[in-house]
Amino acid sequence: MDLKQLIREIPDFPKPGISFKDITTLLGNPAALKHTLDLLETQCLAMRPDYVVGIESRGFIFGMPLADRLNVGFAPVRKPGKLPGPTHSAAYALEYGSDQLELHQDAFAPGSRVVVVDDLIATGGTALATAELIQKTDAVLAGFGFVVELADLSGRKKLPEVPIISLVQY
Ligand code: AMP
Repeated sequence: MDLKQLIREIPDFPKPGISFKDITTLLGNPAALKHTLDLLETQCLAMRPDYVVGIESRGFIFGMPLADRLNVGFAPVRKPGKLPGPTHSAAYALEYGSDQLELHQDAFAPGSRVVVVDDLIATGGTALATAELIQKTDAVLAGFGFVVELADLSGRKKLPEVPIISLVQY
């Protein structure tokens, strides 16, 4: 099954020059959704995680069902002011804009292995900030799983030297 054919490209969204990779068309196809989770499951299982971290908000869509399939816990990385407990925070740059991300300080048991999941890696700024958040805890960053990778932007080169998988590349 060619997942790329099920990802819709919207030119000039959310601003001119950005080709937005819309995964809602993939999500709407039950066979494609199952295949996506099957691939993430197989490839992220090899990273031997104790937790999956999903990055707000499209990382939640894939991260939570993946955590359930892997029989591990899930922790959300969220935009500022959303998490109620004590948080770590890290700044990041987007392909379009900049922001901060937060993670609960007590999200993981010490020494746990954590796999980070998001729908897409572009410049890698979001994923790098998430790696920094995990490094502020006593957990171990075990790898990254992305559905889509914009390979020309070389985002993976920014990330720590852990396994990085993506299912569809542009
Ligand atoms: P970056 O920090 O540059 O790697 O950007 C990754 C984040 O921005 C992910 O959470 C994506 O959901 C979103 N994003 C960036 N560029 C695009 C794009 N061209 N299409 C869809 N989402 C994007």
